[in-house]
Amino acid sequence: MKTKNYAQGKWIEGEGEGKPLYHAITGEQLATASSKGLDFAAMMDYARTVGGPALAKMTFQERGLMLKALALHLMSIKKKFYPVSAQTGATRVDSWIDIEGGIGNVFANASLRRQFGDQPFYVDGEMAPLSKEGTFIGHHIMVPKQGVAIHINAFNFPVWGMLEKVAVNFMAGVPAIVKPATITCYLTELMVKEIVDSGILPEGALQLICGSANGIIDHVTSQDIVTFTGSATTGKMLKAHPRLLEEAVPFNMEADSLNASILGEDAIPGTEEFDLFIKEVQREMTVKAGQKCTAIRRIIVPEKLVEDVQISLGQRLAKTIIGDPAIEGVRMGSLAGQEQVAEVKERVEQLAKSQEIVFGDLNNFEVTGADKDKGAFLSPILFLNTDPFKNTDCHNIEAFGPVSTIMPYKDLNEAIELANMGKGSLVCSIITNDDKIAKEFVMGAAPMHGRILILNAACAKESTGHGSPMPQLTHGGPGRAGGGEEMGGKRGIMHYLQRTAIQGSPTMLTKVTEQYQYGGEQTITKEHVFQKYFEEIQVGDTVITDKHEIVPENITDFAALSGDHFYAHVDPDSLDGTIFEQNVAHGYYVLSRAAGLFVDGPKGPVLLNYGIDECRFTKPVYPGMTIGVRFTCKEKISQEKKVAAEGEVLDKGMDIKKGIVKFLVDVYDETGETVALATILTMIKFKNQD
Ligand code: NAP
Repeated sequence: MKTKNYAQGKWIEGEGEGKPLYHAITGEQLATASSKGLDFAAMMDYARTVGGPALAKMTFQERGLMLKALALHLMSIKKKFYPVSAQTGATRVDSWIDIEGGIGNVFANASLRRQFGDQPFYVDGEMAPLSKEGTFIGHHIMVPKQGVAIHINAFNFPVWGMLEKVAVNFMAGVPAIVKPATITCYLTELMVKEIVDSGILPEGALQLICGSANGIIDHVTSQDIVTFTGSATTGKMLKAHPRLLEEAVPFNMEADSLNASILGEDAIPGTEEFDLFIKEVQREMTVKAGQKCTAIRRIIVPEKLVEDVQISLGQRLAKTIIGDPAIEGVRMGSLAGQEQVAEVKERVEQLAKSQEIVFGDLNNFEVTGADKDKGAFLSPILFLNTDPFKNTDCHNIEAFGPVSTIMPYKDLNEAIELANMGKGSLVCSIITNDDKIAKEFVMGAAPMHGRILILNAACAKESTGHGSPMPQLTHGGPGRAGGGEEMGGKRGIMHYLQRTAIQGSPTMLTKVTEQYQYGGEQTITKEHVFQKYFEEIQVGDTVITDKHEIVPENITDFAALSGDHFYAHVDPDSLDGTIFEQNVAHGYYVLSRAAGLFVDGPKGPVLLNYGIDECRFTKPVYPGMTIGVRFTCKEKISQEKKVAAEGEVLDKGMDIKKGIVKFLVDVYDETGETVALATILTMIKFKNQD
């Protein structure tokens, strides 16, 4: 059997014999993979001209809903992927991380739609006033790049590795070509097949190369984005490609990382933290048989606790049953293939020249339910390095398997120095209940690490652990880890968008951004905006309210009602040395009274007040001044109508089709000058409920 490539809308078998792919547990040949004959330039062109435009014209809401539908679909058929994942040597837990972790990532990215408005583009940050009279302003928009995201991935997470990347570029409106590592590409192939068959993505959004992608970088152009996850050697070779330089193509690299975990001096045996540390290190060494970019490679412990750690960890590792994950009780599967075993063994032998193995043996270990010689099995190997400042191989050589080194530190400065000797990591963790230790460590280690987990008993139960990158956080690390960034919630999506500064008049920029810009033309509406349905309200629609003269009783009454007796509002003798000339009205009173002016009471399409985005009190308001409000529709974001799943009962009102409308509340005084500015959010019904 041959794996297929998905190129230009078709499943294509590569030419020639192809590279043999093996079952990691039994060693039998499963298939071959070849990408020979594929026209990479044509595939990229197809992505840019077919998939790209289809994704780019969708709004962020539509892209998010598309991803949500995809995630729901994949979750409903998740069982299909487990048996195939088992062929890569994965246990059920390993497969769960890869498959359901990957799908979870798609869900998380789908939810980000709420942070991006309701357009195909994103308006970033605040408007910049660029002129005295306010007729010339600047802003930033972010639009989807017109290229293709090329994802070159490592072998260890054939599903998660793809989904965590494509979810982000799809949210941004950019198509992808995925190139999984050849050795485990048959699982990625199955996932892509299910995605394509679902018909949820537009044509051209996703293509797949099963086999070598050598030469693909020759065809990138300036709008493309390349991401790479794999070894530093391959990464650096690709990053040095002259085409990337010539076309100024972003290359996001995530490579080897010698991640560390530090035991705090307070976490002595008998504390909950000590047990957590042992558990976490053992888990990180054995999950995915240590083939995780975030696995703990260096175990940094106070010198007085080295022996305790070595004994406790050894005891836990001894209980790890290695073998065929299909057999009850097996806790660690195999590596992905014999090539990986040979590579890890070679690295272990290199490391053994400068440090001693204190647990495990490369050749003598038991395997349950499988032939040790046919499958890609390896025992966990624990080293002890008593002089890690002198014997530095442990900070430089990555054995991408169940291999880790214990090393001692004398004081916290030494612990920081050792952690940083990895020359840049994806993640490190410190297990401590002492906030001073945690703070000092974080400040010293942060420049060299992409993520730091501070673990203690307070968060242990819910902690996602040392090894789990979360889609809400930026994943990537400096230096040896490649200097890249990926995922990262909104930040991740921005990698695939071009930020462009735009300048012009407030009215013009209102039209371009479809968000009201302060100082832009307002359309005074006859009917109050609160009586209009979502579809009927336009950005710029404005209500000019009645006026209200502030009297001293307003301030004393509000102080009594709210209980806010701040001196500046209530004590006329306290104003020396302040900026106030007399007792000033509470800012919250001004906003509340403004609401009394702009709210239209009778029941209409407005369902509720959702909150306040920004609020500033810009000028003191004293008795005798008169306030009024310019109340303007600033932005509209439609929301999908919730549909109850089978047997689900929705909460009251959740089945109403509605959207969020943001209004600018510009409170001004008798001179016309603004005294308070806020953006309020309302939820408004659609007239058309279909
Ligand atoms: P690798 O050998 O460097 O390969 C990585 C990817 O690059 C594979 O898809 C490989 O394809 C591809 N590749 C190789 N040469 C290429 C070329 N000339 N043009 C285009 N693509 C090319 O790494 P690996 O063995 O798969 O993964 C293990 C390494 O990855 C470890 O060192 C580990 O630390 C690192 N890793 C890092 C992270 C992270 O997030 N930082 C995550 C996982 C793994 P073929 O398979 O077809 O050769």
